[in-house]
Amino acid sequence: MQATLIQLSATKTQRAAAVIAAAVMLCGAVLVWPHARAQGVVVQPFMPIFATSVAIAEGLTGFLLWTQFRASGRLIFVALACAYAFTSVAVVFHLLVYPGVFSANGLLGAGRQTSIWIWLIWRAGYALLAALALALKARPPIEGRTKRRIRGSLMIAGSIGLSIALCSAAVAGRNLLPDLVSTASAYHHLSAHPALLTVAAICFASFCAHVLVTRLRTLVDVWLAVALLAGFIDVALTLGAGARYSVGWYAARIAAMVSANAVLGMLMSETSRTYQRLADAHRALQELSVRDGLTGVFNRAYFDERYPREFMLAIKADYPLAVLLVDVDHFKDYNDALGHLAGDECLRRIAHTLSASLSRPNDFVARYGGEEFVVVLPSCDPAAGMVMAERLRQAIADMALPGPVTGGPCVTVSIGHASSRFHAEAPPATLLAAADSALYKAKAHGRNRVEDEPGPQPTAAAYPRHAMSHP
Ligand code: GH3
Ligand code: MG
Ligand code: MG
Repeated sequence: MQATLIQLSATKTQRAAAVIAAAVMLCGAVLVWPHARAQGVVVQPFMPIFATSVAIAEGLTGFLLWTQFRASGRLIFVALACAYAFTSVAVVFHLLVYPGVFSANGLLGAGRQTSIWIWLIWRAGYALLAALALALKARPPIEGRTKRRIRGSLMIAGSIGLSIALCSAAVAGRNLLPDLVSTASAYHHLSAHPALLTVAAICFASFCAHVLVTRLRTLVDVWLAVALLAGFIDVALTLGAGARYSVGWYAARIAAMVSANAVLGMLMSETSRTYQRLADAHRALQELSVRDGLTGVFNRAYFDERYPREFMLAIKADYPLAVLLVDVDHFKDYNDALGHLAGDECLRRIAHTLSASLSRPNDFVARYGGEEFVVVLPSCDPAAGMVMAERLRQAIADMALPGPVTGGPCVTVSIGHASSRFHAEAPPATLLAAADSALYKAKAHGRNRVEDEPGPQPTAAAYPRHAMSHP
């Protein structure tokens, strides 16, 4: 399973979703363009809601990319995280200085030009940092957690510092920066100003470079392309809009939202898919860890953990518990005659027959060791236990696996059975020991048979109630 998204190639569906998103945006922009300058309704809360949601989305994207970097050590992720951290900070500045949000002219002593310059810093910074990240795409991962943390933290701190420095410079240089807007609420001059055209060119160039270099192979590539395209549409529509709260201005803000959320949406959906895959893998691993590698039935470790639980449960619920020890007869001779590979196959088939013969959900079979299996039958009294043991013995005999001549023409098993009800004073091993001595008896009496041994019995003092009802 992939630890990060770097190598995840985009599936056809994911590619199609991205193409649809890009096509909808482009069509929307083309449809809006002729009406971009039409004045829309001034919705004052729009700007704070928009900027807050973008700042949060960009911040979250940066954080998730940072976790991808921590997991993979790939510099491209921290570089992209830097682009988003930079943008998130710039958006906060943009909101603080935006006229009419916190004060008529904006906070921090902002001038008329401040918010538009910060917006340009936001858009150009994002496009340039995303383009710079491309250069780190092929770099090998950074080894070592501490090295990753230090390098990554320095890069993130650097991008945040750069954003703060540039935005502060835009605030401080309010009287030095060229005028981009003609009035407090409109910016008709923008379309002709080289600053804006340069930023538009940077956004477009960054998008093209990204597509050409990455060839949109991975999921991150695909959705980053959508984000960069949306960033360019934001600038282009703003150019065409001419005034705040115009149709084009609102459409541009929607494109900015798409730009902020494209990678975030992909990261969230992939993170939840990865979590799902992780849970499945964990379940599969858990299942694998309790299975015997050769035969597929439960292994000894599982038996050692579960059997005492079943034993205590039987005491608590006051029902009998039956244990069968199943041992293949003359199996050494079988191996000697037919080879170990045939011996392995024989064990597999015996294990399969044993587990296929159990029908109750709590009954289970485990490989006890070598050519021995143990069958645990909760809530099974001695008579039923013997019937079950005989059924299993017969099922193996019915398989008629050609065997060594020592014991007969076919493979057989001997089974030792022990079942007990009132065994609270005895440790779980006593019932097992009784089954073992029953197995010994079965071997001694000629093999291919079932023998019985009573399980540990209660003392009258320990169980006066039962002792009285069963004198
Ligand atoms: P008995 O009837 O008294 O049980 O005789 P036996 O030959 O079955 O018993 P013994 O303990 O002498 O030999 C058990 C054999 O089981 C020896 C060992 O090589 C074989 N065996 C144990 N585990 C495996 C296994 O995983 N694969 C194979 N092929 N053989 C195994
Ligand atoms: Mg044995
Ligand atoms: Mg044996």
